[in-house]
Amino acid sequence: MRVVYLDNNATTRVADEVREEMLPYLGELYGNPSSMHTFGGQVHRKIETAREQVAALINAEPEEIIFTSCGTESDNTAIMSCLASSPQKRHIVTTRVEHPAVLNFCRTMSRKGYRVTFLPVDRLGRLDLDELQSAITDDTAVVSIMYANNESGVIFPISEIAGIVKAKGVFFHTDAVQAAGKIPVDVKKIPVDMMSLSGHKIHAAKGVGALYVRRGTRFSPYIIGGHQERGRRAGTENVASIAGFGRACELAREHLPVESARIRGMRDRLERGLHETCPGARTNGDPENRLPNTLNISFEYVEGEAILLRLNEFNICASSGSACTSGSLEPSHVLRAMGVPFTAIHGSVRFSLSRYTTDEDIDLVLEKMPGIIRELRELSPYGREAGQAGAHSP
Ligand code: PLP
Repeated sequence: MRVVYLDNNATTRVADEVREEMLPYLGELYGNPSSMHTFGGQVHRKIETAREQVAALINAEPEEIIFTSCGTESDNTAIMSCLASSPQKRHIVTTRVEHPAVLNFCRTMSRKGYRVTFLPVDRLGRLDLDELQSAITDDTAVVSIMYANNESGVIFPISEIAGIVKAKGVFFHTDAVQAAGKIPVDVKKIPVDMMSLSGHKIHAAKGVGALYVRRGTRFSPYIIGGHQERGRRAGTENVASIAGFGRACELAREHLPVESARIRGMRDRLERGLHETCPGARTNGDPENRLPNTLNISFEYVEGEAILLRLNEFNICASSGSACTSGSLEPSHVLRAMGVPFTAIHGSVRFSLSRYTTDEDIDLVLEKMPGIIRELRELSPYGREAGQAGAHSP
């Protein structure tokens, strides 16, 4: 039975072209890129090609790209470096809706004596830029604000945000793990100091990421050891994954102009269809500024996990903003920060598409969901009422 994979914000399938690019480095080309001999040298050259490919995706210069093990490491490294570069400053500004890679890192820093401002968002998941402006003080070492949210898909106005932060002379880092490859990202147009990327969100393998560091930005390595990555990130490189990541970036750049419109079309059809056929559905997140591949939708008085389990029976993969399936014990911190009612958070499902998603995938979800929601509502007295109340508009 085929799998309908609509959980691409969690991870993506490795593109065939990426796997092919990786295979020689898991086989005959096993040299150490730091070795003096020609055998290692050809591996080193592959890493440099990949660096150019990753840089091109965000219009950076190759020497501004540092390979890391994942998006999480890039996030941790960026914030830590900014703190180390401003040792006299003790304040961090971030948002309440960041990925745990930033959120929990900042919480850890707050236990180590830093003051952290977690900016709120409104009910559509948007930031108030006046609040950002006034949160930055002379004591602020770094502002870290994500480019696009992994749960809601909401895209922050990162260019404007970077402008505000840089006007105050403060380091600005953005987590672009969900944005790069899905929407155009251009570091020449955004005055960002550092930007995190991750391979497995754009059809590369797991275990590889990158950190963009603008030329001239003070940088302090997080992983200390050998001289790899020009002394900015020690440890023998994950060559195969880096080679694949480079190819994945090249593919993303090639496909983006056409694929993002096609993916948006399928996402919009899914959204419209669910609103038409499932009473009490509500879309979470700013409809105007959302990743083209993401739909976060709530079905009040139904458990998100129950929906996922029923979808799973048809080999349809999605994720929910409530406990367990998202791997945490708490309901989604993102939806809570947006003030989504408790009953709707628990009934939230995230569908995230990719360039491998087909119209038939969407048809299957649209065919199965009305029955699933109806049946689950029948099991709940509140749900029966909600089911009769009619659909909300997005
Ligand atoms: N940042 C965002 C916005 C993400 O969505 C993720 C992964 O879900 C990460 C960071 C972490 O990336 P990685 O899984 O490569 O550590």
